Amino acid sequence: MVDEVRELAAALDAVDGGMLVVVTGAGVSVASGVPTFRGTDPGAIWKRDLTELATRSFFERDPVASWTWYLARFDGILAGEPNAAHRALVDLEVWQRDRGGDFLLVTQNIDPYHERAGSRELIKVHGSADRVRCSTTGCTYGAPSGSLPRDEIDLSTFRREPSRANLPRCSECAGWLRQHVLWFDEYYNEHRDYGWDRVQAAAAGADLLLFVGTSFSVGVTELFRQAAQLRRVPCFSIDPGAEAARGPGLTTLAHPAEDLLPSVLEALSR
Ligand SMILES: [Zn+2]
Repeated sequence: MVDEVRELAAALDAVDGGMLVVVTGAGVSVASGVPTFRGTDPGAIWKRDLTELATRSFFERDPVASWTWYLARFDGILAGEPNAAHRALVDLEVWQRDRGGDFLLVTQNIDPYHERAGSRELIKVHGSADRVRCSTTGCTYGAPSGSLPRDEIDLSTFRREPSRANLPRCSECAGWLRQHVLWFDEYYNEHRDYGWDRVQAAAAGADLLLFVGTSFSVGVTELFRQAAQLRRVPCFSIDPGAEAARGPGLTTLAHPAEDLLPSVLEALSR
């Protein structure tokens, strides 16, 4: 791992006062106990039902089942803690900021571990498990800009007796509340919190891209990768499940992020 640590540290150092963009995916949270969407680990429960359950059409068809499934799923996620990879990315942000450079962390994860660890310049492109919003577009608490912390909503009645009558409702318009996450049949530009304008600007302006624990199978990752290739910006991917590879467009470092990143930060601080 020593060579990879040195290589990535040197590339990060070379960004200098430029724009460093980190894109994280499910892999960064595996060490926090969150199963990946498309991973090979045995806990990858999403694989089976995800494309049907994680949709607006499923919510509209069966809001009780949607809420029940998400409550079980998100209760587990919200009980988790950041790991060494999340903490190392906070250190990387501080390191970059202290030398006058720009930094942006874009995560595909809906868990709250990056912000709990202390990341500041953060965009959660797929929403957040710890927030809900009104399902009525245009409502104060709905798209395109409204949402609420989940722990401010009384879910006790629905938890006790999941039914249509007990679905959590918006205090403003009495519409059903929903998860504040991007569903498969929705678009990045449907809610301001997904930060789509800023994501596109970052893709066009990055001086180095670091992918962490992402499988390159969703739109946002492809956007960054293509922009980087076009502009010949150095790209690194930390992914223990991939083959280690050094190409002109992308260097893949096949190590767990929670091992590699703290070592990189240690090298940078020397
Ligand atoms: Zn409402």
